[in-house]
Amino acid sequence: MNSIPAQPEKIVLYPDPVLARPAEPVEVFDEGLPALVERMVELMRDAQGAGLAAPQVGVSRRLFVIEDESGPEGPSIPTVFINPELELGGDLIPFEEGCLSIPDIRTTIRRPKTVRIKAFDLQGQPFELEDDDFLARVWQHEFDHLEGVLITDRMNPRDRLANRKALKELRLDFEQGSER
Ligand code: ZN
Repeated sequence: MNSIPAQPEKIVLYPDPVLARPAEPVEVFDEGLPALVERMVELMRDAQGAGLAAPQVGVSRRLFVIEDESGPEGPSIPTVFINPELELGGDLIPFEEGCLSIPDIRTTIRRPKTVRIKAFDLQGQPFELEDDDFLARVWQHEFDHLEGVLITDRMNPRDRLANRKALKELRLDFEQGSER
């Protein structure tokens, strides 16, 4: 867990290379981890996102946070998933997705309906959950981030064409930002 910035400033945007790199497993559950997770939840809420993966704040480690949308009466769902593994099942379902790292781009992606997720919590305790609805979708999207895969990699040719200009603008913005 060396060199983890506990207080990342902002969400990293496409096409930052950290987003395209497979992330490293979390090996030490030390005090840097809760601080990082807390900051990630803050950034996710500020951006009104449903989930945020560590590479999206420039930290190439295998963890993500999601917002618990189940409400006060709903089941208690952990908001942090560390070193997650997915088991996918069911039919492929098309659903429109966006990404906090790729502003203003939306694309319909077909993904398996059912996901069984195994992960560790902040205390290093393993847990398992299953979903066949919105959470299953979010888990797959965030897990992709840990593999260095973005929605742009899964875009169908039509959406790629429709979003060509917006993606080009993001690339130009990134180049200009790196030159500063
Ligand atoms: Zn994303």
